Amino acid sequence: MASHPHVRVLYVLGVYHSGTTILGNMLGQLDGFLHVGELRALWPKLTLPGYRCGCGEGLLDCPVWNKVLSAELGEGDVLAERARELWHLQRQVLGDHHTWRLVPALLRRRREGLRPDSPAARYARALAGVYRRAAEVTGAQVIVDSSKEPTDAALLLTMPDVDVSIAQIVRDPRGLVYSVLRFQARGERIDGSRWRQSAYAALSWSAGNLAGATVRRAAGPGRSALLRYEDFVARPRETIESLAGLAGWPARLPDPGPGADPGTVVLRPTHTVGGNNNRFRTGPVRLSEDVQWRSGLHRIDRAAVTALCLPLMARYGYRPAR
Ligand SMILES: [Zn+2]
Repeated sequence: MASHPHVRVLYVLGVYHSGTTILGNMLGQLDGFLHVGELRALWPKLTLPGYRCGCGEGLLDCPVWNKVLSAELGEGDVLAERARELWHLQRQVLGDHHTWRLVPALLRRRREGLRPDSPAARYARALAGVYRRAAEVTGAQVIVDSSKEPTDAALLLTMPDVDVSIAQIVRDPRGLVYSVLRFQARGERIDGSRWRQSAYAALSWSAGNLAGATVRRAAGPGRSALLRYEDFVARPRETIESLAGLAGWPARLPDPGPGADPGTVVLRPTHTVGGNNNRFRTGPVRLSEDVQWRSGLHRIDRAAVTALCLPLMARYGYRPAR
């Protein structure tokens, strides 16, 4: 079998609403790094007309994705057909919902290797091809994929031609749940308790982070890092530069300029194919911890979340009374 050059991937793992998009975008500012967003969303997005890249162009008109896709997957109807096929394979191999259930089986395949004709191997080959082509087109040394899902990270560990490092980001579950509730309320005021939604999000937090920890341990301490959202927003520069070292390509963030707060990071446009609307954010950014949950999260919801998440909260250093 023909061997391919290795490609370095820094995979951002985390439960939704944990800050993965902004973490990825900041990593993408490092020299030699390309943040592609939630790459796992590429296949469905290719079926949406008018879907925009993080740079603001239509995905098929973006100077990066246009080259990557046409060289790797084809154009027009051929591309559309290939995208549907890969989307189908992705759901078959990595699942759609509650994907954490599939992590142990994927990690076992790491020892056995993937059967070359299996759906997992076919999907993995296409994914590695996209990573390699994105590196080739942009000259990037490290591809940052903020797909978040532990399953996809576990699959990467089975791929010998991908040199993967894993950054898992965790967030205080009360802050995460409040962020989910606000998202679900579409900016409307949240009156009263929404304990059912809160409990569901709290359980997703626990299951997702446990599965993430399993994959992180499988990668090993030299290839993985655990960070807390609250520490990242307090010290973004240090966090980002230490992750560059983890990925095997040490790099510094560009200086924010004279007189600027040293915690400021200047965001240039990125070529991201998925993630929340923060992916379009550009210019100087000074992060601060979103603490609205402390006054906004209803006491019943807060008690439910704390009770459900307590064992893992203690492991990550989140105190019940805060
Ligand atoms: Zn673009």
